[in-house]
Amino acid sequence: MLAENVLTGSTLPDKTVCFTFDDGPGRPFFKTTGPKTLEIAKYLHNEGIVATFFVVGKFVKKYPHIIKQVKELGHIIGHHTTTHPDMNREFNKGKNMVPELAETEQLIKGQITNNTIYFRPPYGRWNSEMCKQLNQSLQTESNYVGPIGWHIDGSDWWFWSKFDKDAAIKCAEHYLKLIRAENKGIILMHDSNANKLWGIIRNWNNKTLETVKMVVTELKKEGYSFVSLDQINFEIPA
Ligand SMILES: [Zn+2]
Repeated sequence: MLAENVLTGSTLPDKTVCFTFDDGPGRPFFKTTGPKTLEIAKYLHNEGIVATFFVVGKFVKKYPHIIKQVKELGHIIGHHTTTHPDMNREFNKGKNMVPELAETEQLIKGQITNNTIYFRPPYGRWNSEMCKQLNQSLQTESNYVGPIGWHIDGSDWWFWSKFDKDAAIKCAEHYLKLIRAENKGIILMHDSNANKLWGIIRNWNNKTLETVKMVVTELKKEGYSFVSLDQINFEIPA
């Protein structure tokens, strides 16, 4: 069952963070340019960190082998709709949002654990009327958990629009500042970009891998711990 409000789950212990990546999977256009979902997954795996990748169905269709490998590395595959719409806006226009969930559910079904699908709506856009309708209309045997929110959002995609040679270091510093201020929580980053208007530009300069490496190295130095999304309790109290 999807909840009517965005969920951020049980409070984490101090100096504990959970990595989540939205909008993938993606792969480099050339050797070094573009999204690097698999490389991020491998790096984190080697660092002993389990992340969640909220994937977009339209990209899963293109790169099914990537989410398979990401899952094999021990990460969690989450659900981030099929076409990455602003669900509130489309729902209010009268559009049926069920296929946005149902189609991608079929695409990722083989890559989830315990029948559990963590769901995050694009841009965190959600409303209770749409939620009620989805819970009623969605024919599913999967256990949907969500909508999953976040605590720390450094808008990494903004840095990728700038074509700045120091984009990764500036972005990492920005995230570290926010993480230190919050002290704990779910971190939102983007391993790719599914935004219709700006996605190509942002993907061209995507530096998420480089940023994650800097952020993880520094957080380890500062004594932070890392948890996976399934270690957080998202159950709504009765
Ligand atoms: Zn997104």
